[in-house]
Amino acid sequence: MNNLTIVEARKKLDNKEVSSLELTQYFLGEIKKKNDHLNAFITISEKEALSMAEQADEKLKNGDSTPLLGIPLALKDIYMTKGVRTTAASKVLESYIPQYDGTAVMLLKKAGAVILGKTNLDAWAHGSSGENSDFGPTKNPYNTEYVPGGSSSGSPVAVASEMALAASGTDTGGSIRLPASFCNVVGLKPTYGRVSRYGVIAMASSLDSIGHFTKTVEDNALYLQVTAGKYTMDATSPPIDVPNYTQNLSQGVKGLKIGVPKEYFIDGLDPRIKNMIDKTLKWYEDQGAEIIEISLPHTSYAIEVYYIIQTAEVSSNLARYDGIRFGNTRASFGPEAKRRIMLGTYVLSAGYYDAFYKKAMQVRTLLKNDFEEAFKKVDVMITPASPTLPWKLGEKTSDPLSMYLSDILTVHANLVGIPGLSVPIGFLEGLPVGMQILGPHFSEEKLYQVGYAFEQSHPFWKERPKNE
Ligand code: GLN
Repeated sequence: MNNLTIVEARKKLDNKEVSSLELTQYFLGEIKKKNDHLNAFITISEKEALSMAEQADEKLKNGDSTPLLGIPLALKDIYMTKGVRTTAASKVLESYIPQYDGTAVMLLKKAGAVILGKTNLDAWAHGSSGENSDFGPTKNPYNTEYVPGGSSSGSPVAVASEMALAASGTDTGGSIRLPASFCNVVGLKPTYGRVSRYGVIAMASSLDSIGHFTKTVEDNALYLQVTAGKYTMDATSPPIDVPNYTQNLSQGVKGLKIGVPKEYFIDGLDPRIKNMIDKTLKWYEDQGAEIIEISLPHTSYAIEVYYIIQTAEVSSNLARYDGIRFGNTRASFGPEAKRRIMLGTYVLSAGYYDAFYKKAMQVRTLLKNDFEEAFKKVDVMITPASPTLPWKLGEKTSDPLSMYLSDILTVHANLVGIPGLSVPIGFLEGLPVGMQILGPHFSEEKLYQVGYAFEQSHPFWKERPKNE
C-alpha cells in the first residue's frame, strides 16, 4: 500500500487485488499508529468508514467503477457531516453533531468514497500554521518540530503521511495552497463558487473556496471532478459546465504563456525559494513555454484589503454561535476569533465603514482589474506558494501580524476569485517547497495541465516523510 495514489488504488480495487474494506482498514491502522504523534485527526469515524467501505465493495462486485468508489478520504473538520461531530476545531462546537451533509460531502458519498474522519485545523479556519486549534497543533510529518501550515492543517498531513488517500480542505486566503506546499502534496483552491460551499462552516463568505489535497495532480483532477458543479443551495455556484479535468493533462506546455508577476518576488521572499522557482521557470521554458514578466500593480495592498474584508465577514458569520444553538454553552471563542470579531466589527461600524470596508472593496476591484489585464497577456502565472519555509512550532504564535504575512502570496486569488494550484517543487533543509500556479476564472483544467507536466519529470511526491 505504500505511497498509493487514487489512480493506483482504483486499479487495485477494480482488479480485485484489494477490497475497499481492506484499504479502509489499512488507513485506519495507519491513523492509529501515527495520529497521537501528528494530531492530524480530531475525529476518527471508524464505524461509519467500515460501513461505507462495505457498501463500496458491494458496488464493486456489481462491476461499478467510478474514480472515487471505495477510496478512503478525510475531511477538514469544517465540513458538516450528518451524524459525525463537526467542531471547526473550536470548543464552542465540541459536541455539535450536524443533521445533514453539505453538498460536497453528499457528492463524495454518492460517488462511493469512504470518509475516514475529520481533520484538524486552526479553529474556524483562522490561521496559517495549524496552531490555533482548540484540539492542539498538528505537526509537520517531514519534521515534527515544524508547523504543517494552516488553516487546513490535518488534511495535508493525513495525505502526506499515509493516513488517507486524499483529503478536503478550505481556502479563504491560502489555507489549501500554503499547507500543501509545506507538506509536499498537491492542493487546489478552485475558482470561487466552483464547488458548492453549502454545508461547510463559513469563514468569510465572499472568499471561501472548497478544494482538495492529493499526492498527485491527476488524483486532484479526479477528486474535483466529483465535487465541482452548480448546486442550488449555494447561490454563488455558477451555471458553468464542468469540463473533463483529466482530458488535457498530458498536453504539455509548448507555446503556453507563463506570467511571472514581479511584485510577488518581494523582500521577505527566501532567496533559496526564489532560486527554486527560477529553476522551475527555466524548466518550463525548456519545454517550449514562454516566460513573460508581468506586473500586478496593486499587489502590495492585498494583505490589508484581505484582513479588512475577511474580518468583516468573519464578525458577521460568527455571530450565530451565540452559545444557545450549537452545543457547548460554557466554551467561548479563542483569542484569534475574538481578535477578528473585534477588527471586523470595528471596520464595519458607522464612521469607519467608509474609511475601511468601503475603501477595501474599491481596492479589491483594482486587484481584479490587475489580473484581468494580466490574463490578456498570459495563460497562467507561476509564483512561490509561500515566501518562507515552514517555521518552527511556536515561532509566530505570539505575533499575529507575522502570521498574517505568511499569506502574502495567496490572498489575491481569493480576493479576485481565481483558482490556484500548489505543486511540490523540492526540498530545502528537509522541508517541502511548493509553487503556486494561478489562472483565470474556471481555468482549473489548464492549471492541472501545467502542474502535471512538471510533476511527471519531477515526482517529488514520491518522497514521503521518514521520521513519523
Ligand atoms: N491564513 C489566512 C487567515 O488566517 C487564511 C485562512 C484560510 O484560508 N482559511 O485568514
